[in-house]
Amino acid sequence: MGSRFWWIALPLLAVAAFALLVTEPEDSSTADPPPRSEPEPAVFQATTALVDDARINAADTEPQNWLAYGRDYYEQRFSPLDSINQESVGRLGLAWVSELASSFALQSTPIVVDGIIYFSTNWRRVHALDAATGESRWVYDPQTPREFLRKACCGPVNRGVAVYGGRVYVATLDGFLVSIDASNGKELWRVDTIVDRTRNYSITGAPRAAKGKIFIGNGGAEFGVRGYVTAYDAQSGDQVWRFYTVPGNPAEPFEHPEMELAATTWKGGEWWNIGGGGTVWNSIVYDPDFDQVYLGVGNGAPWTRTLRSPGGGDNLFLASIVAVDADTGSMNWYYQTTPGDNWDYTAVQDMMLAEMDVDGARRKVLMQAPKNGFFYVLDREDGELLRANPFVTTTWASHVDMASGRPVETEQSDYSERPKWIVPGPLGGHNWQAMSFDASSGLVYFPAQQNPLLYAMSDEVASTGVLKRNPGQMNLGIELGRIAQLIDETPGAPEAVGYLKAFDPLTGKEAWSVEHPHYWNGGVMASAGGLVFQGDALGYLSAYASDRGERLWHYNTYTSMVAPPISYQVGTTQYVAILAGGAGDNFGGHTTDTAAYRYGSYGKLLVFKLDGSEELPEPFELDKIIPDLKPLSASTEDIDRGNKLYHEACAVCHGVNVKSAGAMPDLRMMRTQVHDRFAQIVLEGTLSNQGMAGFADLFDVSDVQRIHAYINDRAIRDRAAALATP
Ligand code: CA
Repeated sequence: MGSRFWWIALPLLAVAAFALLVTEPEDSSTADPPPRSEPEPAVFQATTALVDDARINAADTEPQNWLAYGRDYYEQRFSPLDSINQESVGRLGLAWVSELASSFALQSTPIVVDGIIYFSTNWRRVHALDAATGESRWVYDPQTPREFLRKACCGPVNRGVAVYGGRVYVATLDGFLVSIDASNGKELWRVDTIVDRTRNYSITGAPRAAKGKIFIGNGGAEFGVRGYVTAYDAQSGDQVWRFYTVPGNPAEPFEHPEMELAATTWKGGEWWNIGGGGTVWNSIVYDPDFDQVYLGVGNGAPWTRTLRSPGGGDNLFLASIVAVDADTGSMNWYYQTTPGDNWDYTAVQDMMLAEMDVDGARRKVLMQAPKNGFFYVLDREDGELLRANPFVTTTWASHVDMASGRPVETEQSDYSERPKWIVPGPLGGHNWQAMSFDASSGLVYFPAQQNPLLYAMSDEVASTGVLKRNPGQMNLGIELGRIAQLIDETPGAPEAVGYLKAFDPLTGKEAWSVEHPHYWNGGVMASAGGLVFQGDALGYLSAYASDRGERLWHYNTYTSMVAPPISYQVGTTQYVAILAGGAGDNFGGHTTDTAAYRYGSYGKLLVFKLDGSEELPEPFELDKIIPDLKPLSASTEDIDRGNKLYHEACAVCHGVNVKSAGAMPDLRMMRTQVHDRFAQIVLEGTLSNQGMAGFADLFDVSDVQRIHAYINDRAIRDRAAALATP
């Protein structure tokens, strides 16, 4: 099996992960959700975690803490601590571990304030632990209904909390922003951030806190939504402003003046039916120098622009970086990385702020490596484009024209006439995994990937130019079932490759690059110890020399990692912490040496220090034998139809061509009892308390039988192929 299926990357995948039959002790709660309290100015006396703007701004004066998502407002993720350094790192060992009883990916950046470490896990459970010992202080559970998982693209994942004014803020999968008392884990208020609950909005991103406000966006573009960001009063939860990223139905009034401008760039069609997209599901960065907030805006919904805006146009503010006033939400400037996005090229990737000399002048800059494969350096004052150097192969565009600021698309970029392999694919040349900047060297360290997709529309959609909205399902324009078949039938697809790169954003040159066996790896942290830390899909946490890329230390966690490491200090002891848990490649058939594939995924917080002597138990390797199944009575047409339905509704979690990689069970290996109950599980939702919601609104019994027949057929063929391979 070659590496032909990374692509199904689908939506921001991440590590999709819910599953028929995941058993997750920590997540098996069936309790009713608590009442949705209205925001109110609670009587609240902050006693701990007294983080404010001044402290976050001056984070370098307290290097023992990690006060915010990217450590400070510049979000450079560079730790000034240096007792763990190139000379001492060989002595790094495990200090303590906190097992989190979770099989889903862990993506969160922990926050450390005054000896307490705060982080979110799956389902937005929030933990507060003693940062030196790992002793639990409290756990908060928002009681998110498990069946909501069906409405989220990529598992019940969460990238982190904000700690501010004695409170911890987390956004739930089902779209509530929650304020928690940092001293005891009690909920103070929750507010509903979702404007339309008939649409599949969800939240996976970390809120940001500044100027007495909490900023939060959402995700769901693949399902068909309209993106926006909201600012809330940090104390009361009252809404302060809301900025939509794409226009709604032009027959209705514009919510704010920027929508009038944006609407002139959408032409023909009825994009508002599908939603338009432009969700801000990851990066929102506050800039204290200009008192503005940068919104990293996502892809179009649907993906295919001829379906979304058949008259052409740039489709603002898709795939843009938008700077808005922190107090009013009114726009100061925007820069669009991918005009008329056609490939799921989000600009939601992490943004870092810095000051640097550019062409002889000192500039305040913003840096981003979005999915489209170009590394952007913008002037933060006005959004002027300063650099746009490629960091991976980009077959969709030859270069960015610096005069116009626009990418120059190639003939290869257009898949409207026939399917095309395009690099990057929808997983991007870089995704949400954190990057880090060392101001002393001017280098950015980040996980890049060369990761193509065969973009193909169904014949029907390609010939009619019309995509009917499919409520509750993905509305992409491209046709996953067809792509799965094409890739399966066509050998010799291009390989996907992952890298850790040390990249000069001004020259576009690599100082060094490490190639990984698997492309989907963890975020990065650099430190004053001359080290770059990264966890990878194979389960190794490694420290590289930041000046030359030499791997100086590694540790086998037996757990695939996608989250970024952080560093902090308690007393005189420096620690490195990382949340481990994930699937290297949930989308079938790629490398089988990821830790998630070999051992399954058991989430944990791992904390290291010099001379740490804790040990992890060696895990068991999982049995990967597909059982000997009898064919179900079904025609070839039924199986083909089952393939189409499976890839519309099931593949995002269970893997393309039914090849999942480990964070959840492989449906080809279902036991007899599960086969017997298949229709019941899918239609009635008998496993909904584990995240496998019922699909009776989409499927009838014959649909489910076809899906079952397809899965069964796939299992029989894959078993035969495995037995034929020596
Ligand atoms: Ca997307």
